[in-house]
Amino acid sequence: MELIYEGKAKRVYRLNNERLVMEFKDEVTAFDGLRKEVAIGKGRLAAAQTAFFMSYLEGNGVRTHFIDWDGDRRITVRALRMVPIEVIVRNYAYGSFLKRMPMVKPLTRFSKPLVEFHLKSDELHDPLLTMDDITEAGLLTREELQEIINTSLRVNDLLTNLLSTRGLILVDFKLEFGFDGSGRLLLADEMSGDTMRILRNGKHLDKELFRKGASAMDLVKAYAELNALLGVKS
Ligand code: 5GP
Repeated sequence: MELIYEGKAKRVYRLNNERLVMEFKDEVTAFDGLRKEVAIGKGRLAAAQTAFFMSYLEGNGVRTHFIDWDGDRRITVRALRMVPIEVIVRNYAYGSFLKRMPMVKPLTRFSKPLVEFHLKSDELHDPLLTMDDITEAGLLTREELQEIINTSLRVNDLLTNLLSTRGLILVDFKLEFGFDGSGRLLLADEMSGDTMRILRNGKHLDKELFRKGASAMDLVKAYAELNALLGVKS
């Protein structure tokens, strides 16, 4: 298979014209790659989480790029024309929200979920975008943006409810979208502890642990704990 992309957490290979393989690395990075460690077992746990969440969403009527998981570090997905935007949904104040809005206390629950857009750009540190920025740049139409907002809020409802049945709080998460050959919008990329903040009794079961200084091994243990709580096969 031809390697077509290598990022900090994943490699992407082309299987054929319609399908790609995403391989999750046994590595964890933070602070734009400044902190990087080997994390044996993380790739399989994150692949399993992505497979679990995307299958759950598909079962509830959300179209995703997910096709199947090999039981290890790889998933097969549909090849899409990716939208170069990160969509973030926030239920509680945390992370970059607190940096730009320091008058709000950490973990304050919002009156409604917030949806925001960031340009995918490591050099520019993923700047926040307005809806006008996106439409004027020709990245998406108003209608497509609205569809992305609706889908993101639906994903938030489904995941918040699912996690709450296991005593887990969904603080925030990041989504990415792409268009298939027929011009339909599909949920893409990954859904794992690397892209969500999930709390259990105040403890992070996500990458925030590593950002806060925990070891890669403790992070892998937290991902395994999350999978056990969710009943994710891994
Ligand atoms: P924040 O904007 O507060 O840093 O992140 C909000 C949520 O989106 C968190 O759950 C975080 O893990 C996720 N997120 C934000 N930016 C990125 C990114 O560039 N890569 C990944 N994997 N997740 C991100």
